Order: sequence, then C-alpha cells, then structure tokens
Amino acid sequence: MAAADLSLLAYGDVVAGCERCALAAGRTQVVFGSGSPDADLMFVGEAPGFHEDKQGVPFVGAAGQLLSKLLAGIGLAREDVYIANVLKCRPPGNRDPLSEEIEACEGHLFKQIELIRPLVVATLGNFATKLLSGKPTGITRVHGQAQDVTLGGRTVLLYPLFHPAAALYTPRMLDVLEADFARLPDLLGCDPEPAAVEPEQAPEAQPVQLGLF
Ligand code: URA
Repeated sequence: MAAADLSLLAYGDVVAGCERCALAAGRTQVVFGSGSPDADLMFVGEAPGFHEDKQGVPFVGAAGQLLSKLLAGIGLAREDVYIANVLKCRPPGNRDPLSEEIEACEGHLFKQIELIRPLVVATLGNFATKLLSGKPTGITRVHGQAQDVTLGGRTVLLYPLFHPAAALYTPRMLDVLEADFARLPDLLGCDPEPAAVEPEQAPEAQPVQLGLF
C-alpha cells in the first residue's frame, strides 16, 4: 500500500467521527471520498445525497452513473480518479449546503487535496467551483476554463464543470459537459484512449502478374 494511501485512509478514519457542524446529527455516515489516493485527476462535487449517505460512497446515484459514463468516454474508470464532495455529510432533504457547513467542512477537502496531490481538480457545479476558485463567479460563466490555483500548498489546475445532476435533465448542458470533459486528457497531459479502430480495409487488389509464358 502506498504511503499516500495510508495517510489518506488514516485521515478518513479521523473524519468518520467529525462533529464540526450540525449535519453530523442527521447522517447515516460520513462520505469521505473514493478512488485512487494518488490520482492525477480529482473531482469535487457538492454533498452526499440519499444513496451516498446510505452507502458511504460519493456519486452512486443517477448523477454518479452519468459521471462514470463521462469518465468511460475519456478512457478512465472511477478507480483511476479520486471523487469527493465539498460537504462530507448529507444535508437534510438534499438542500443546498449552508455557508457555515462549508466553512466547517472545507478543511477536510483541503487536507484531501494536500494528501492526494492531484494535477487537475475538476469542480462539479457552483459550490465546489466557488469554494476552490475563491471567487463568486458562477459555473455558467467559468465552466471549461482551466485556471491555476494554489490548493494544499501546491499549484493545481482547477477545471470547473457543470454538475452531472444538472446535465441529467438539460440535454444542452449535457452536450457542454461532454465537450468540457473531452479536454481533460489534454489537461492531464495524456492521450485519450485511442478511438475504436475501424476494421482494416481489404488491401487493394494487387494487379495480377500475368505470366508471360
Ligand atoms: N452525489 C454526490 O456525492 N455529490 C453530489 O454533488 C451529487 C450527488
């Protein structure tokens, strides 16, 4: 097990007992994060929903299925990246996070970024984007625009994306999300999975060498 894995695991154990805000009282469990502890690419969503709270894993509902599909589209699996949220506990009724909840919880996310040391942090939706960019500009204006930010004591590339839950019901937003996703391999400095190769064409018929005799 890698050293980064150990310390992230150990930190997860600490956060499992967190009582920094009132959400602790209503949760089934803390949803710390999942995926590779050495990931180059990290996603940050908003907060656990009903299914995440029950299973203890981020993005396992409908939005999570779309996220997995988008990842597969660029040749990545969930195990290749790290997925976390701004809030680690479910807000009642899936309401928006409150500013005091974000303030109480943000230290956990900053510590995760420090331990994982990703190259690119893709923020999903307004809450993660505003928190990690440190700016109030909303996702509609900044999606798809990579910017250098200092997080966890290092410079990382922040890449804001529409939240998959929003794209689920808005086909135009899904198109934009897919187009923004397609730039991720480039931002990570790697080639996307090669596209399916067309079956080789039959070699052109060679002129038949006619025997002279
Ligand atoms: N599930 C999560 O874990 N986070 C979100 O932001 C939405 C769904």
